[in-house]
Amino acid sequence: MTIEAWRITGQSQIDSYVGRWAELAVLLVNELAVTQARGRPADSPADRRAALEAAFAQHGWTSGRALTGADADRLADVAAELHPAFSGDVAALNAALVRHAAVPNLHGDPPVLAFHGPGADLVDAWAADAGTALAMVIGVGQGRRLRTCEAGGCELVFFDVTRNASRRFCGLSCQNRAKASAYRARRRT
Ligand SMILES: [Zn+2]
Repeated sequence: MTIEAWRITGQSQIDSYVGRWAELAVLLVNELAVTQARGRPADSPADRRAALEAAFAQHGWTSGRALTGADADRLADVAAELHPAFSGDVAALNAALVRHAAVPNLHGDPPVLAFHGPGADLVDAWAADAGTALAMVIGVGQGRRLRTCEAGGCELVFFDVTRNASRRFCGLSCQNRAKASAYRARRRT
């Protein structure tokens, strides 16, 4: 009976919700909360707003309105709050969901499900929706898909959507660096 009920909930809509908002969490963490990326130091950008706008453009994310510098500074805090979820820190994620008042709510007409209240501002709304998406990934037993790049000197995170959750690196450059350093390590022994 419960399985039949699930079938009418529109799994593809839930998947696309989770995919879209988990990708925003990835983008925020990678732009604003990591200290090393692809073997190089990644200091917090001097102009966070410009860095975010550039990353949004690159990933096809539309923010709905122009970000302010104050938004970008608060999003850096959100990024720091969501980052631990990529190493399985459920308590930190729960705290972020509470802090940003994540609550299922129907918005608009026709109504669309989202996880921020009607009065939430952009930053709280993003934090609630992105945090909920990460919670849904973890809550259905797929937390291992929220990963950190395994290459040395890289803390970039990603949402692994490969069929068997086997992705290990943020991208090709780290995969190649890791391969080269494994090769050097083998030659030394
Ligand atoms: Zn990497």
